[in-house]
Amino acid sequence: MGKEKDNNLDYGWRRNREKVLLIQDKSILLDDTAHLMQSAIAEMSNKFYNAERCMQCGICTGSCPYSEISEIEFSPRDFIQKTRLGLLDFASDDIWYCTGCGSCENKCPFDIKMTDVINDLRGIIYNQGAGFIPDSIRNTTVSMVTYKNPWKEDQAKRYAWVRDEPREKAPPRSDDRYLFHGCCFNSYDPHGLIMLKSTLSLLDMAGIRHEFLYESEVCCGDSVLRCGNETGFDILRNDTVRAANSTGLKKIINLSPHCYNTFKKWHFIDDSGYDIIPSVLMLHRIINEGLLPVKKRISKRVTFHDPCFLCKHNNIYREPRDIIAALCGDVVEMKHSGVNSLCCGGGGCGVWTDRKRGERLSDIRLAEAVSADAEIIVTACPICMNMLEGSIQSDPAFNGIEIKDIAELMLEAVL
Ligand code: SF4
Ligand code: SF4
Repeated sequence: MGKEKDNNLDYGWRRNREKVLLIQDKSILLDDTAHLMQSAIAEMSNKFYNAERCMQCGICTGSCPYSEISEIEFSPRDFIQKTRLGLLDFASDDIWYCTGCGSCENKCPFDIKMTDVINDLRGIIYNQGAGFIPDSIRNTTVSMVTYKNPWKEDQAKRYAWVRDEPREKAPPRSDDRYLFHGCCFNSYDPHGLIMLKSTLSLLDMAGIRHEFLYESEVCCGDSVLRCGNETGFDILRNDTVRAANSTGLKKIINLSPHCYNTFKKWHFIDDSGYDIIPSVLMLHRIINEGLLPVKKRISKRVTFHDPCFLCKHNNIYREPRDIIAALCGDVVEMKHSGVNSLCCGGGGCGVWTDRKRGERLSDIRLAEAVSADAEIIVTACPICMNMLEGSIQSDPAFNGIEIKDIAELMLEAVL
């Protein structure tokens, strides 16, 4: 059916195993939307080309958190296959299920980077208008780029309280000075603000000097990147790099694992001279080096919900457990933990969607905590906190469980 375009990349829309869409001869295209997609797919990078190596083994689908929810048919193996065959329905919601948790790509024997494939495909939808994007995701990510935060909030509110609220500060431990990046959630969300203030109190008490960008701190752009808006992401990256460069500080502490991952892998890559540190590792150092002694052990059954952008994307899962062990005793583990942890559903723009009961990964996670007989779920990510709290508020079965940030728990134990 028609001649093949001279194209090095062997993707395309096929029907009856035959290529049916050609870029140059638009007369045989199914429609203009398909033409846009084919055009963009043909221009894609090697990341997507690697998807051609998929052997359809299904290991990814077995490790995808949606395998825990029978109501949802989303499967990374099927997704890759449909993409290769040109059968993906861009008009459906399917592509927005992926949370970017990384479980599938950590296990794939052919090192296929599912999250890159998803990002690239979402880029086609976002930039070329060739499919469905939920309004909530579009509006929120536009706000991130335009207003520098997800909620069109006043940037001047960030850290405004720092100037008014006196904090106990120990003498500096060393000459090291850190730039502290707190994240939008921790600037404007009520529980996020508790997470922020607890972390800063611990750093102050331990004599770890840190400074802020105040209103120049902008959204890291993680969701903007993951919805496919590369132009918007570049704007936020430039804002951040320019602001950080102006301070002369070269060590940055990130409170959110999403910001940490974005800073480390996109904003300040290896040769930038920056040292990017997640705040949980600073807390681990404080406990490990005895900078703050534990005064009051917490005698409750505590479990740890691993944020995906610490455990799966950055291999950080032992340190939070060391901290909890020092504060309360050994962590009570849930069915999924560490590198095999279950995503809360908030990554990859999931936090900006409104999934109904029966489709929420955070509900499954809380059910696992109930099965483990946990009294407190500790986490170290404002998005996980938000998702888990949303499930608690919507289901009385979870009322007996508390959610705390790891810094919040630590502050209680060292005061
Ligand atoms: S694990 Fe990798 S090779 Fe196996 S089906 Fe998934 S993407 Fe394909
Ligand atoms: S990144 Fe996570 S949610 Fe997305 S397909 Fe892979 S395992 Fe599933």
